Amino acid sequence: MSDRVFDAVVIGGGHHGTIIAPYLAKAGLKVGVFELLDHLGGSCVTELGPAPGFKMNFCAQFTRLYGHPVYKEFNLRDEGLQYAFPDTNEAIIFDDETAYVSYAAFPVVNKETGATQYSEENVKRTYDSIAQFSKADAERYLELTQIYRDLWKPAFTRYRYSPPPPYGTPDALEELMLNPKSGLDPTMQFMTCKQIAHYFFESDAMRILTLRGFMTSFGIFPDAVPGLGAIIPTIHLTLGWETAAVAKGASGALTDALVSAGKKIGVEYFVNADVAKVLVENGRATGIQLADGTQVTAKQMVVADVGTYQLFERMLGQKYQTQEMKRRLASLSFDMGNVWWGAIAVHELPDYKVAKQYGPDINATPRTYFAPKDLEYFEKRYTHELYLLGISSKSFNLSAPDTLWDPSRAPEGKHLVTFEDYTCPVSWFSRKEWRQMAEQYFDSLMEQWKTYAPNMTRDNIIGYRVITPVDLQDTHPDMRDGNWGEGNMCAVQAGRFRGLPGGYRTHIKDLYMCSSAVFGGGGIARGSSYNCYQIIAEDHKLRKPVF
Ligand SMILES: Cc1cc2nc3c(=O)[nH]c(=O)nc-3n(C[C@H](O)[C@H](O)[C@H](O)COP(=O)(O)OP(=O)(O)OC[C@H]3O[C@@H](n4cnc5c(N)ncnc54)[C@H](O)[C@@H]3O)c2cc1C
Repeated sequence: MSDRVFDAVVIGGGHHGTIIAPYLAKAGLKVGVFELLDHLGGSCVTELGPAPGFKMNFCAQFTRLYGHPVYKEFNLRDEGLQYAFPDTNEAIIFDDETAYVSYAAFPVVNKETGATQYSEENVKRTYDSIAQFSKADAERYLELTQIYRDLWKPAFTRYRYSPPPPYGTPDALEELMLNPKSGLDPTMQFMTCKQIAHYFFESDAMRILTLRGFMTSFGIFPDAVPGLGAIIPTIHLTLGWETAAVAKGASGALTDALVSAGKKIGVEYFVNADVAKVLVENGRATGIQLADGTQVTAKQMVVADVGTYQLFERMLGQKYQTQEMKRRLASLSFDMGNVWWGAIAVHELPDYKVAKQYGPDINATPRTYFAPKDLEYFEKRYTHELYLLGISSKSFNLSAPDTLWDPSRAPEGKHLVTFEDYTCPVSWFSRKEWRQMAEQYFDSLMEQWKTYAPNMTRDNIIGYRVITPVDLQDTHPDMRDGNWGEGNMCAVQAGRFRGLPGGYRTHIKDLYMCSSAVFGGGGIARGSSYNCYQIIAEDHKLRKPVF
């Protein structure tokens, strides 16, 4: 690759790099995206496997990009990103053969725009499902659904897609907390996940689901303090308010659509390009240098879709670190959000015993957990077992039978089911131990799965792949210790506190950060890159994005 000149250089062609690039190009800039790996998408990719003829998600699985402003702004549906919207939302099946299924209170009514509409019928169905565990929780669901519609949803959308204001100026959720009708109060900023689960619900079933929801969405354990920004989406997940969407073609379809939109407006993408350095002159970012020595000029800005350590330690180095930054870097933590993850190619999808009593929807829910109904174990012993042994004795497994809605991921008549459980950071064990543990984990998973779904036997398996935190760290340099969020997503590393001081704007002029290491945080469709673009637009007088 010869030396090149761009207005804006984006480091990393991951989820947020591929979102911000078309925004910059639409503002009239010449944009170059430089990606380390031999493909774009970062943690938002489709891979072949786990058996011939199957396609799986190496990372992100549950995505709702149709709700992100980029979907509308760049007509991603026309670029090939199509979602299926199942009627069911989320299910949990307990070991005492009880189960809960939620149906979206606000199902998608327009597949083109993703517009939603309140559904009385679905609310009634979810209400009944909760009421079998607790009438009070079912009533709470009704009360919270109204609050969500009137207050939480608009405030949360504003919160997610706006750069956080400085400390002292309330953000959209802090404003909400001051409204007595919001059901939120200031103490909640400091409650643990456990306290939140106990505050909102009285039944063990709903508390377990809430605690598991904090892990699914934020990678955090019962004793962590989630902060306001994690409470609403977790209660939202527990109660299944919005449609769970399934991307046709798996998660790579999101990246493909974004890149297609970018190419149409002139974005240039380079793969196998390991960015080693950010070039700085007179305190201003002026370009990048690749590991092979190639230099690329950025006339106006460099935007990094990489993590905090890579950017500040590797690409800028000690010379540009203040003492305060060193202290901040030393205090960042990555010790939650480590998963056993993967996919199983099967002849038949799991057929849960409870389907006899609860009906077929339980087998056809895009997010299906199975779990022991043992709140005390979950709250008191589960994380200890994970940190000591890497594998919990009782699985709180999340799975997704996506081929029901997207048959393109498997050969005709066959299926794929994704799984997720939690574990500990990479550094707790040696590589050899992780390899052994992956097999032990899978054996334990299958032993437990068949007690819930008797057809989940070895005979049903065509192939499987277990992705460990080591695999994640090896392929994603910013997922330190295998942390999928690129840094714990608890209160102290969330909202305006995420990232080093400066957030999207770094202490180097014209050097910005747009990855999940800044607010938004880890997860597809979160606001990092959209918010970063708003900051850039302000600094460089560029057009405002569509909201
Ligand atoms: C196992 C797993 C499961 C997940 N499941 C979900 C899910 O179901 N739903 C959900 O919403 N989210 C999920 N996530 C989280 C989600 O995938 C990520 O939060 C999101 O993709 C992060 O986007 P990003 O742009 O910050 O990082 P990435 O997508 O990782 O992009 C960063 C890019 O920078 C590149 N890069 C790194 N270093 C360099 C360098 N030196 N030079 C050039 N390029 C470089 C990387 O190769 C990568 O392409 C999951 C993550 C994991 C790991």
